[in-house]
Amino acid sequence: MRTYAYGYPRLGRKREYKTLIEGFWAGKIPEAELIAGLEALEAERLETYRRFVDGFPAGEMSLYDPMLDTALILGLYPNGGRLEDYFALARGERALELTKWFNTNYHYLVPEIPFFGGKPPAFRLAWNKPLEAFRKAPDGFPYVIGPYTFLRLSKGYPPEAFGALLRALLPAYAELFRSLKAAGAAMIHVDEPAWAMDVPPEHVTLLREAYAVLGREADLLVFTYYDSVDFLEQLYDLPLRGVGLDLRHGEENLEAIRRSGFPADKILIAGVVDGRNVWKTDLQEAARRIEALRQWTSAEIWISNAGPLYHLPVTVEAENRLDAALRERIAFAAERLMELRLLKGLMTGEGAEEARRWNTFVHPVDRWHRPEVRERVSQLRPEDFSRGLPYAERIRLQRERLPLPLFPTTTIGSFPQTEDLRRARTAYRAGKLSEAEYRAIIRERIQHVIRIQEELGLDVLVHGEFERSDMVEFFAERLEGFAFTQHGWILSYGTRVYRPPILYGDVSRPRPMTVEEIAYAQSLTDKPVKGMLTGPVTMLAWSFVREDIPVREVAFQVALAIQDEVRDLETAGIRVIQIDEPAFRERAPLKRRRWPEYFDWAVKAFRLASRARPETQIHTHMCYSEFNEIIEYIDALDADVISIEATRSRGEVIGAFERHRYERQIGPGVYDVHSPAVPAPESMEAIIERAVRVIPVENVWVNPDCGLKTRRWEEVIPALRNMVWTAQHLRERYRTAVPTP
Ligand code: GLN
Ligand code: ZN
Repeated sequence: MRTYAYGYPRLGRKREYKTLIEGFWAGKIPEAELIAGLEALEAERLETYRRFVDGFPAGEMSLYDPMLDTALILGLYPNGGRLEDYFALARGERALELTKWFNTNYHYLVPEIPFFGGKPPAFRLAWNKPLEAFRKAPDGFPYVIGPYTFLRLSKGYPPEAFGALLRALLPAYAELFRSLKAAGAAMIHVDEPAWAMDVPPEHVTLLREAYAVLGREADLLVFTYYDSVDFLEQLYDLPLRGVGLDLRHGEENLEAIRRSGFPADKILIAGVVDGRNVWKTDLQEAARRIEALRQWTSAEIWISNAGPLYHLPVTVEAENRLDAALRERIAFAAERLMELRLLKGLMTGEGAEEARRWNTFVHPVDRWHRPEVRERVSQLRPEDFSRGLPYAERIRLQRERLPLPLFPTTTIGSFPQTEDLRRARTAYRAGKLSEAEYRAIIRERIQHVIRIQEELGLDVLVHGEFERSDMVEFFAERLEGFAFTQHGWILSYGTRVYRPPILYGDVSRPRPMTVEEIAYAQSLTDKPVKGMLTGPVTMLAWSFVREDIPVREVAFQVALAIQDEVRDLETAGIRVIQIDEPAFRERAPLKRRRWPEYFDWAVKAFRLASRARPETQIHTHMCYSEFNEIIEYIDALDADVISIEATRSRGEVIGAFERHRYERQIGPGVYDVHSPAVPAPESMEAIIERAVRVIPVENVWVNPDCGLKTRRWEEVIPALRNMVWTAQHLRERYRTAVPTP
């Protein structure tokens, strides 16, 4: 029985990865020091593997992102080996697009494949990164992202070119594998998580063809994760040395093996400890799973993690402020390695006692449960998920209460958070600034941002979110049932990190969370100020969530807490409330067949949270552009107004609303907040003009793509001035076209 682990975080216990690379960017760390620092970090990672498990990959370390590395390995971009060239592709003006990696909150750089005149580019083995890594760690298996995943996650080519491109990739991969074998690699770690997506039959044919060729070059271990592989049986006759399967998020893998076994000539790498959530593994249960596998196949079985470990922080060890009962019940990446060792001990009979001790902490403690919260969820009736009046009637009440012009203007919530504000927050958290002093600073910022919005002539104002560092953390800190780590950072993209809260118990809202700031902002102006909340789905998606009760119940608990806040905002006289759901699409399962179940609870949770009086206008915001596939679910949210990203696709997303009759109000983003450029009125107008072709004029709002938190005031002011000017200009033009409601 062997253990194998992969994906251990590259961030380092003290976030050394971030410090090194950002130090280099800032010119504070010379290149040699950066390289030496990263090598030391990698050496430490490998040492950790060696201490706990029998096998692991060599070459997972990256300067920014493994997908970018793969593109360079394959010669997709010129690479003279200079760091500046590498980082130019990762950040700055010419950087590749960032997109979410599967349904996780990690973002990868999307390679763009030039496909001119029907001819695939000449891929070649331009950088043998896996070999370099293997030379430094010959006890590891060289690591590479496989051709199917690489291609599936790249962009820039027509779908019908997929086969030609996959074939064009094969010589480079074959050469890579040959060179690794020649250098003495016994096996090669090939990452193919895209096999767990919905893979169309023609793709199965293509990837079978590809691996029939590649599998003859070297002994390949192909790793799949995040879900099950729908075509598992079709891998059985391929020349693969082993297949890694997710048995935590891919229950159907187990079913398939029960049904049709697993070939005896391959290694079955059984992913039994979770790479995505923090709850300790029930080792006894995991052992039973492996025993079951042994009944169904005589193949050699390795025990492994069920997905890369970089979705977890490095170690629980440093978390000495966490409640002891919780601390004992969670496992981060280092503890997952420990679990693999314990599981092996349990299965081989050596050290079984230690495993049993570990297993005493796999159940939640009673005091995390609050019967009144459970009761409230169990009492929910269908009418609790409905606004009472249909949209058409609500909007009449809202228009009476909110005298807004045609093409009303607003922003998405946050305004620039400057360095001095961040310093004040740090000082406040460290106890160096009193609560009163900190509150005074926030109030002063609110006054400032209200004045600016009035001067600009915006119609629905915001308070600027200055009191929030993160839209999930802020609310999680104010709700019961969430806990926080001190060092639980994980990579979001590049060197960017965040600390997901841990949702461990029943959730409730002990007291109002946002009313003070919003009501204060409203007291400064006659214009409506928008209340600003984070929605239940996003709260769950960006936290580590308990698994002892169904996720829909957890979502409803969070939704009810938000609903309490909505009620209090209404009582405080707030007429417009925005509930952000940027993770609504991302949280969806990889496979379409699991969508109805997910969207059922996701939509209901939002409706529950947003169950305001009919005269309160509910906004929601989402920031990504693939709306086509989820438009019916967006419709089902029954929000009065939705603001969406539209700039980068020049209004392309509006196409979704062409095909689907959408009766509610929409604000297609006219200003790309990810760019420092100040958009010209013409470009903004073009997006709105496109919108009014499919959406009734009186339903169109004018707003940026997303929050302005990361922008600078010098960019924001002129951009918003142009935006307001554009709206006024459009009003002139369309005034006569619209009947007064
Ligand atoms: N209201 C949030 C903000 O403006 C929305 C952020 C988001 O969509 N990611 O910052
Ligand atoms: Zn956004």
